[in-house]
Amino acid sequence: MRAIQVTRHGGPEVLEYGTVDDPIPAPGEVLVRTAAIGVNFIDTYLRRGLYPSVPPYIPGSEASGQVVSVGAEVDGVAVGDKVCWVDGPASYAELVAVPASRAVPVPDGVPDDVAGSAMLRGLTAHYLLDGSAHPKSGDTVLIHAGAGGVGLILTQLAKRRGLRVITTVSGDEKAALSTAAGADHVLRYGDALAEEVRSLTDGRGVAVAYDGVGADTFEQSLASTAVRGTIALFGAASGPVPPFDLQRLNAAGSLSVTRPTLAHFIADTDELRWRAGEFLGAVAEGDIDVRVGQHYRLADAAEAHSDLESRSTTGTTVLIPG
Ligand code: NDP
Repeated sequence: MRAIQVTRHGGPEVLEYGTVDDPIPAPGEVLVRTAAIGVNFIDTYLRRGLYPSVPPYIPGSEASGQVVSVGAEVDGVAVGDKVCWVDGPASYAELVAVPASRAVPVPDGVPDDVAGSAMLRGLTAHYLLDGSAHPKSGDTVLIHAGAGGVGLILTQLAKRRGLRVITTVSGDEKAALSTAAGADHVLRYGDALAEEVRSLTDGRGVAVAYDGVGADTFEQSLASTAVRGTIALFGAASGPVPPFDLQRLNAAGSLSVTRPTLAHFIADTDELRWRAGEFLGAVAEGDIDVRVGQHYRLADAAEAHSDLESRSTTGTTVLIPG
């Protein structure tokens, strides 16, 4: 089969397209021919060696496709089923062996590119609202990178829960997308951000600051959060937040900081199926509009990484095999 391999740690140029052996499904696994493969920030962190990984390896953890064969001891998944997953290994490939217990059925009406690129961000948005933080209806939240993959979905889910949403974006096109997703106020990054957030919240600040940008935004997140509020630091698109003196949380207003990761909110298969069912159900019903902003051929994965890292993307990013 054709696949992308990370040959060594480094920039997008270390992603190489070539031919490798087909995977063979182990007991409990199904073999899936991929239709659409999601490109996520975590793929870039692993590629650069910011998160531990050992080259050479096939990157990617989410995709959608059709089951072409099943291994031994597989119940409930059959050849021909359309499935998607968020924690499958080696997903930048034409064929992927996926544990049957982690393969989620794709509901009718959900396109391949949405199923293949929205689950990781969608389930992240889901646990950010119901898992790592617990904003209540009527609360105001701040969402950085409001036009990004997570940002557009998180904004829509937050509005469905009755939250008031303030987002940040870097440009006019992104501002329009964030507004269309339901953001009540769309702001630009910068030193005045916290002051603007405070003036929109009668001086109080937000109940939760959702920060997937990291190094460049963390200080403003801290300064924008209300007394007893929470900062959910869930990513590092601009780089990791430097070491931090916990005593500052006291002075800033008895704040909580959490640094969650999706894996811990879907490790239990029932929890995965609950979150995936709610998210994909809302997509299938048309209640959540997923913007697949960029399509690339699988062979052009390096270009996809480069665009994601240079912040020129909006919504989700997908690779199409063949
Ligand atoms: P996005 O589509 O949101 O892309 C990142 C966005 O961050 C950019 O488009 C850009 O938007 C903004 N940004 C601000 N500063 C920078 C910078 N210096 N370099 C790059 N981007 C910058 O990505 P995703 O939706 O895929 O992911 C968003 C974040 O969520 C990432 O940090 C990712 O690691 C994290 N994540 C965490 C998970 C978890 O469980 N912890 C799971 C999934 C994602 P703008 O131009 O508007 O500023």
